[in-house]
Amino acid sequence: MIDGHTQLVGLLGWPVEHSLSPGMHNAAFEAFGMNWRYLPLPVHPGEVEQAVRGLAALGFQGANVTVPHKRAVFPALASLSPTARALGAVNTLVVQRPDDRPPTVHGANTDADGFIGALQHGGFTPTDTTTALVVGAGGAARGVVYGLLTGGTGRIVVLNRGFERALVLIQDLAGRDDEWASRLSALPLSTETLVETARGADLLVNATTVGMWPRIEGSVWPDGVPLPAHLVVFDLVYNPLETRLLRQARESGAHPVDGLGMLVRQGALSFDLWTGRSIPIDEIDRVMRAACERALSSGHGGTHQNSSSV
Ligand code: NAP
Repeated sequence: MIDGHTQLVGLLGWPVEHSLSPGMHNAAFEAFGMNWRYLPLPVHPGEVEQAVRGLAALGFQGANVTVPHKRAVFPALASLSPTARALGAVNTLVVQRPDDRPPTVHGANTDADGFIGALQHGGFTPTDTTTALVVGAGGAARGVVYGLLTGGTGRIVVLNRGFERALVLIQDLAGRDDEWASRLSALPLSTETLVETARGADLLVNATTVGMWPRIEGSVWPDGVPLPAHLVVFDLVYNPLETRLLRQARESGAHPVDGLGMLVRQGALSFDLWTGRSIPIDEIDRVMRAACERALSSGHGGTHQNSSSV
């Protein structure tokens, strides 16, 4: 029951109606007997700063932020986590209420840690001898590359259709740390570069929108070429849950890992930041992942046109 003690969080984005996050978080609040609610909050792109200040004024504890507002929230924030600063993107807001002072809003980013958590849960922990290929150079790829760098991955190759964008991504991150520069490289995405570099890689991550509903027959990997069987193949796309790329991986004897694990882990990390409650891994799957799977199988998110991460 909603009453005077109910604590509120939500999702700022435009649009937000097909997001899985309200169902995922409300399932967790219910399962853990918490008097909290998570609301979808559609915010017009011209009103982002007012919305962030409004969250604090209205007593919200925080929010997630999704496309297209992940950077637009910056001017309204009092502080940023190191990850949010490095990525130039916020996916979690935390309202801070110090005694006797007006509330302020802190910006964090849980995408990179969510990705690494999901990768490890999928049975793979990167090391300094790992070579990872990241296909894509948008916001999601940036989080993945940052997670791999801070997670100690030895070599990271970014392949993107628009080569300039891949170069900008690696140069931005290389500029933060000389040692990172030595581990990063970029290539234009083509069938030849992908197949050739995959032979010597341990991990392939699809961080493009290719394969996402409604164009579910798309794959970054070519037809008729088996994926190397030693490869771990992680697809950030989670609608459908088994993408064409993951099916190709399974049929080649490689190791597929779906994108829903990242979604639920970044969500569980946000949940922890708002509530101070860390959800055990088996509960994340039992409650949050199960809520997302139910929503996906009932067609929710089926008309999910944007590339929202939450
Ligand atoms: P974005 O910023 O719009 O970037 C899109 C990327 O896809 C770009 O690298 C783009 O290449 C590439 N791309 C698009 N169409 C392509 C095509 N036909 N062939 C080759 N490359 C193509 O999107 P984003 O926010 O990074 O999101 C990317 C995907 O990750 C989405 O599907 C999103 O739902 C998913 N995601 C999942 C999670 C999760 O928790 N599982 C989290 C974040 C995002 P160009 O630069 O050449 O255009």
